[in-house]
Amino acid sequence: MAEKQSLNTARKSIRCRAAVCRQAGEPLVIEEVIVAPPEPREVRIRIICTSLCHSDITFWKLKDPPGYFPRILGHEAIGVVESVGEDVDEVIEGDVVIPTFLSDCGECVDCRSKKSNICSKLPFKVSPWMHRYETSRFTDLKGETIYHFIYVSSFSEYTVVDIAHLTKVDPAVPPNRACLLSCGVSTGVGAAWRTANVEAGSTVAIFGLGAIGLAVAEGARLCGATRIIGVDVNPDKFEAGKKFGVTDFVNSVSCGNKPVSEVINEMTGGGADYCFECVGLASLVHEAFACSRQGWGKTIVVGVDKPGSQLNFSSYEVLHSGKTITGSLFGGLKAKSDIPILIKRYLDKELQLDEFVTHEVSFEDINKAFDLLIEGKSLRCVIWMDR
Ligand code: NAD
Ligand code: ZN
Ligand code: ZN
Repeated sequence: MAEKQSLNTARKSIRCRAAVCRQAGEPLVIEEVIVAPPEPREVRIRIICTSLCHSDITFWKLKDPPGYFPRILGHEAIGVVESVGEDVDEVIEGDVVIPTFLSDCGECVDCRSKKSNICSKLPFKVSPWMHRYETSRFTDLKGETIYHFIYVSSFSEYTVVDIAHLTKVDPAVPPNRACLLSCGVSTGVGAAWRTANVEAGSTVAIFGLGAIGLAVAEGARLCGATRIIGVDVNPDKFEAGKKFGVTDFVNSVSCGNKPVSEVINEMTGGGADYCFECVGLASLVHEAFACSRQGWGKTIVVGVDKPGSQLNFSSYEVLHSGKTITGSLFGGLKAKSDIPILIKRYLDKELQLDEFVTHEVSFEDINKAFDLLIEGKSLRCVIWMDR
């Protein structure tokens, strides 16, 4: 069946449905678009399902660059290879693949090092183009260019992705679970496991209990953390947190005049071993740093604030505290080797994924997924392309 389809469509443009964002902050419009065939080192995939991450919302709202419109958003997905461009031997048509916003070229000094997942051959930026060529594969029916979003653009029945951004996965894994490993759950679990390397018996504080923060809790739980403190402004997230091993809750709205960091310092007798910022606010990075334990505390920045937002630390604050602060893109994971490990841990019933999926909608209802996440009602809403 897949072969028959490829005979029909390989090396040809495909006309299909996509949810296009025409203007910042406006509801997406499902329209027909033209998806060009893949260039060398690129792959065209049919999306099975996709889910909404808060980063889509951040760049959906952003009027100025790196906000570009019209654009096809979406970067958390799973799909099937429809056709491959020249010089692609890692996947063939019919393979099930997970796209990722971060590349894993496997060749550059950073990809070859165990210490980093930040590829220098195809460096990450919030780009509107395909990574290798700085061109788009999408046009609308009038011939106007439609921009890509962080090398994935999964809110389309078909999309083109560079091979460095694709991981082949076990086709047995349910797509509406595996798609979460394309961004959110991998990022959170990886931040605890790879970036922080949380040790058994440690105390962890997590700012923001969306899917990312709860996946940090899940990662910390798997690493054997004994105390996991969750901070949020939405009390509904506290109930969800229990499933992922959150042991203590702090509602930052009801802390009175006390900064949350002070509350956590008191609870822990001097700060947590690992503090994760999973909201995307510089002010919360300061709070997280302030309640990291002196001497060995690590602050991990996971949330994405507005472009240009600044952190301010006095040099004495850093010098006298002995604390570490680090960023974590995609949880410090190398997609091609680490996603299969997480899938295996899910299939072995160690890693929880099912609990993150709170809603599922058809492609026509994609704007509902936006409303649910903005209103704080969902963790992850899976969007099925063929329903
Ligand atoms: P989400 O909207 O599901 O969760 C955010 C949570 O933060 C919500 O529960 C919300 O109630 C809470 N919150 C908001 N303001 C708060 C405050 N002042 N104090 C405490 N909690 C507050 O979002 P998500 O999909 O879980 O994404 C979280 C962040 O992670 C976003 O900034 C997203 O862009 C970022 N992200 C980063 C990476 C990465 O590679 N570093 C990958 C994916 C997502
Ligand atoms: Zn690389
Ligand atoms: Zn994401």
